[in-house]
Amino acid sequence: MTPFLQAAVTQMLPNAGDGENCAECGFAWDTPGTAAMGLVRDGPQRLGELLDRAEVSAPITGGPWSSSAYVWHVGDVTRAWSERLHSLSVDPDAAWAGFDPDELAQARHYEALPRATAPWALERAVEALDLSLGSLDTDTPFEHPEWGRGTVADALRWLAHEVVHHELDIRRAGSPA
Ligand SMILES: [Zn+2]
Repeated sequence: MTPFLQAAVTQMLPNAGDGENCAECGFAWDTPGTAAMGLVRDGPQRLGELLDRAEVSAPITGGPWSSSAYVWHVGDVTRAWSERLHSLSVDPDAAWAGFDPDELAQARHYEALPRATAPWALERAVEALDLSLGSLDTDTPFEHPEWGRGTVADALRWLAHEVVHHELDIRRAGSPA
């Protein structure tokens, strides 16, 4: 794992363990960049279908977010990364700014945002990500302000994990504990 991916997993996923796969959802951290992007592209449909079936008011086991909030979260994170990868293309030396996803959730009021629009917003974000990839090679390096050096493939792995892991969160939310 690169410093970026290692730091991201350690800081953001305290229950993910330190193995080759996320201990919770099973995502393989060495998933190839192109396969990871495939998972990201499938995200709007997979999460949208789950959202259709999930209980609207189902509580999240062990977490404060609703199923709809998770989809808004994946959309916002994906859009933020599309902007970062675009900047990597047009201004590779530009510094990035990190953000706290919980603070963003509060500022955006995920719980009050329209549930039916969450998959649509995620789909638009995936389109932006596709555009931002442009001619970038998956080996292209970047420097994350908090997590250090990574590659475009790492960014795609991180976003693919968002889809897979939060899919699990939504399934957990929609079924009795
Ligand atoms: Zn996971």
